Amino acid sequence: RQPILAIDGPAGAGKSTVARQVAQALGLLYLDTGAMYRAVTWMVLQSGIAVTDQAAIAELVSQCDIVLESGNSLNQSSLPEKSLDARSDARSLPTLNVWINGHEVTAAIRSVEVTAHVSTIAAQPIVRQELVRRQQAYGRRGGIVMDGRDIGTHVFPDAELKIFLTASVEERARRRQQEWQSQGQMHLSGADLEQAIRDRDRIDSTRRVSPLRKADDAIEIQTDNLSIDEVTAKIVDLYRQ
Ligand code: C5P
Repeated sequence: RQPILAIDGPAGAGKSTVARQVAQALGLLYLDTGAMYRAVTWMVLQSGIAVTDQAAIAELVSQCDIVLESGNSLNQSSLPEKSLDARSDARSLPTLNVWINGHEVTAAIRSVEVTAHVSTIAAQPIVRQELVRRQQAYGRRGGIVMDGRDIGTHVFPDAELKIFLTASVEERARRRQQEWQSQGQMHLSGADLEQAIRDRDRIDSTRRVSPLRKADDAIEIQTDNLSIDEVTAKIVDLYRQ
């Protein structure tokens, strides 16, 4: 198997943009596992299923067809929400297009509504079991960068390189807001945005099954004072060592 690079961390720490840049620099595949949980959440909301209806969600997740594909369109509205600086950096990256059951949901899965509910749905054991199984199948040959919350602890505990990206809540909120601004959007701001980030962190790190935590052998990078390119360069160096 080729090496696996796991990038975990809390919401808005820049995992997705950094992971995509690292994958591009090293010629590796990239899997955004959060996009899978988001797509399922979008489908649940779209179907009118209550986010707490475990039986209905179990059925939905076991049958859903999720496709993640790198595209070349520079469509701002479909950029992942968490680039550190979407204006300058994300443009050079291919977009990650997402479909679930034939619906193109690239932009829709980044909505405030999906973001507000995704952690509740991702905490359900049956959802994790099914999506982790698919992630393990997708990554089994290696040669891949995967970003998420539990890649280094649970999905691929034997990953060759594990990175844990962090940033303060204030910095994560600032980045998110900057990104929305660059897209001409403004969903939440100030204390509300910081609270939404804290809420998601709390649910993700206190859930019963594979909660968000740093793997013992992961290298932690605190990104408050680093640019996206600096974080990418650090990880590329670590990979090559
Ligand atoms: O990374 P992103 O913010 O897109 O992830 C959305 C949500 O999906 C997270 O807040 C978390 O609840 C869930 N998630 C997860 N395990 C992963 C990736 C994401 O539980 N590996």
